[in-house]
Amino acid sequence: MSAISDKLQAVRDRIARAAQAAGRDSAEVALLAVSKTWPLASVLDAAAAGQTAFGENYVQEGVDKALATADRNLEWHFIGPLQSNKTRPIAEHFAWVHSVDRLKIAERLSAQRPESLPPLQVCVQVNVSGEASKSGCRPDETLALCRAVAALPNLKLRGLMAIPEPADDEAAQRAPFRRLRELRDAVAAAGIPLDTLSIGMSHDLEAAVAEGATIVRIGTAIFGERNYA
Ligand SMILES: *Cc1c(COP(=O)(O)O)cnc(C)c1O
Repeated sequence: MSAISDKLQAVRDRIARAAQAAGRDSAEVALLAVSKTWPLASVLDAAAAGQTAFGENYVQEGVDKALATADRNLEWHFIGPLQSNKTRPIAEHFAWVHSVDRLKIAERLSAQRPESLPPLQVCVQVNVSGEASKSGCRPDETLALCRAVAALPNLKLRGLMAIPEPADDEAAQRAPFRRLRELRDAVAAAGIPLDTLSIGMSHDLEAAVAEGATIVRIGTAIFGERNYA
């Protein structure tokens, strides 16, 4: 198996090719390295290869890594399901949260964000695949939730995030990403500017870049297959 630095470069190349195919500047697409389940050593390998933004799904694991790398200028993004009794460590230790899907969670994150830190950057997660996924607000709730989140003092609403059902062909992968992009455009047209679309994982990053991704969240293609045991 190739080293993390080689796999990181291969992912950067995929992003560059997908951006070129879509007529986009690859500088518009940020790479979030999803390091969940991987040890600190893997994070440090990726950081040594120039990666600065890391995503985590589990609160304690993410906080531990953020604390262990506090002297390194890395940026930590929380991308997992949110429970209201675990918002405080997220508000205290992360720079971004991609998975805000209800107002109560957003209000807690804003209230618990330390005044000494810049606003917490957030995306509203939308369930664009319907029944199949439980996380994310309904598409028809998105505008109202964005409006409410944008009004909270210690959060900065940046955009929308989705995790569609896995699909094999690129057309099927693109359809839910396109729905999310159209929702983003509708929210922006209502006067709430959003600059971020957090879409695309290891198996569908090309489809996501084609539909306007500004952050792709990549784990397996950088670190290898996860072992949850
Ligand atoms: C695990 C995870 C990823 C990374 O998925 P890969 O298929 O390993 O690239 C991206 N986003 C979220 C929300 C995840 O939970």
